Amino acid sequence: MSSLSVWLILLAPLATLAHPVKPGDYSKQEASGQFWHISDLHLDFSYHLTDDHTKVCLSSKGANASSPGIFGDFMCDSPYGLILSAIQYINASEQKVDFMIWTGDSPPHVPVKELSTKLVIDVIGNMTSTIRSLLPDMLVFPALGNHDYWPQDQLPVSGSEVYTAVAEFWKPWLCEEALSTFRKGGYYSQIFKSNGTSHPLRIISLNTNLYYSPNKVTFNMTDPADQFQWLEETLKLSRQNNEKAYVIAHVPIGYLPFTSFTAAMEYKFNEKLVKIFRTYNDVIAGQFYGHTHRDSFMVVLDEKDSIKELNPDISPSLPLWPPDISIGALLFSSISTLGSNIISLSDLHLLLQL
Ligand SMILES: [Zn+2]
Ligand SMILES: [Zn+2]
Repeated sequence: MSSLSVWLILLAPLATLAHPVKPGDYSKQEASGQFWHISDLHLDFSYHLTDDHTKVCLSSKGANASSPGIFGDFMCDSPYGLILSAIQYINASEQKVDFMIWTGDSPPHVPVKELSTKLVIDVIGNMTSTIRSLLPDMLVFPALGNHDYWPQDQLPVSGSEVYTAVAEFWKPWLCEEALSTFRKGGYYSQIFKSNGTSHPLRIISLNTNLYYSPNKVTFNMTDPADQFQWLEETLKLSRQNNEKAYVIAHVPIGYLPFTSFTAAMEYKFNEKLVKIFRTYNDVIAGQFYGHTHRDSFMVVLDEKDSIKELNPDISPSLPLWPPDISIGALLFSSISTLGSNIISLSDLHLLLQL
């Protein structure tokens, strides 16, 4: 297998429909900028090359790896070398960026018994220190994924060993106020002040894993971890302060891109969240999610079915199914902005095999 065959860079120019930016319309006060979006790293620490293809990685769950190489296999989650190569690429690109968003899921897709709270914390710590050591000057806004907990999907509503440990890892990036809500419920908001913009930009990192259908802990609740109440208060204050907000989270709102009628979230939570987003559409300038392992974007409609805003939903394409689709292993994006408006995005794919 030619493991590191080709870097394919797709350019997908976008303009936000809520705030259209026409050529020549650019206000001099609106500074332009860029940020990276990485997601779903899914480190499989068991990955190794061996002649027995059923034993290459725990994440293949005993199935044959198709054509394993040093940068991975379509049946497996990411070996460390693949993640390292992506972060090294970001470092070597020397792109001038303002910050990075990282929308969760560091541990691998393996049976529950193969992991533990300690292992999950270790993997998130490992990914955090990999990013920090290669990108020491990068400001990162992270969000938790449904795999960033043990047992997976069961993220709790009032503190946990995982929230506490991860808050320590993310201390270099987040302010004390953000860390305190994170320790309680796995969510936070923090202002990013970009030079010369007319609206301060607020990053709102939600723990949408609390609304994820397989989460049994929150099933009977109406407002897990009081996050809805907090979100409404945060957006209300943002509006008063003339801010714009980017919402980042792992599990996305709406139907999954590979299904027609299946939402990732419990129906009542999905409806509630969409309602809040519609109410504060004038404040929310963009939403960025992971989880789906698909390169896709969604549009939130208002109640009369007109388009309200654009929601890029970006994540690596690993593991791919069916495995004979020989494109894509890891996808990350560089997103350009003018003020808080998204004006273009570049997706970067690493091809494992041609
Ligand atoms: Zn994932
Ligand atoms: Zn996920």
